[in-house]
Amino acid sequence: MVDSVLDWALGGERCALCHAPAFEAGLCAPCIDALPWNAPACPRCALPLASPTSSCQQCRALGPVADSVLCPLRYAPPADRWVHALKYEAELAAGRRMGRLLAQAIRNEGVPLPELILPMPLHPKRLRERGYNQAQEIARWMGRALAVPMASTLAWRWRETADQTHLNAGERRRNLRDAFRADGARLAGRHVAVIDDVMTTGASARALVATLRKAGATRVSVWCATRTPLP
Ligand SMILES: [Zn+2]
Ligand SMILES: [Zn+2]
Repeated sequence: MVDSVLDWALGGERCALCHAPAFEAGLCAPCIDALPWNAPACPRCALPLASPTSSCQQCRALGPVADSVLCPLRYAPPADRWVHALKYEAELAAGRRMGRLLAQAIRNEGVPLPELILPMPLHPKRLRERGYNQAQEIARWMGRALAVPMASTLAWRWRETADQTHLNAGERRRNLRDAFRADGARLAGRHVAVIDDVMTTGASARALVATLRKAGATRVSVWCATRTPLP
């Protein structure tokens, strides 16, 4: 409310962090510069790294997560607070901010745009509890900024999976076996991008990418607002 009154009084969008005039994605230029940008990172899975390398250990062992993986921010302040506020406090403005930042990062990288974007599906039970899918709140704004349609029903959770918070990478992979189903008729021959708020081990992304490829997608990108180091 205060923000919208300020917008009205000062004739423009204000930075969500310091209230200076916004430059892009609802943030001012100095606050954008100070964000925890994810570099250096593994070029194949966006894992934060201490120094640049051609591939992290996990990608060497398991192969790339997807055809293109981009996570522009590290899961660190203030981006970790945005993820938390969007997921647990229904602060939808955080989804809009991350969606716009993600779109800008994709433009800057010059990676090929998909034909459709797909928010990481939430199990219907969790969707009912939360009332919205946080990944869809990011995807909605990202798609709008890049003029790519969002298709939230291309894939869905087939099986309810255990909470992954305390599982290691191997346990997450087993937990996610057969977790997703996808609409082959709409995916055949398409380039789609999966959108999420945070990538942790990449196990969910790997499982969904495998399902999308099996259903006929020819190129799958994975774009997440933030990336954690391996737990
Ligand atoms: Zn600012
Ligand atoms: Zn990697």
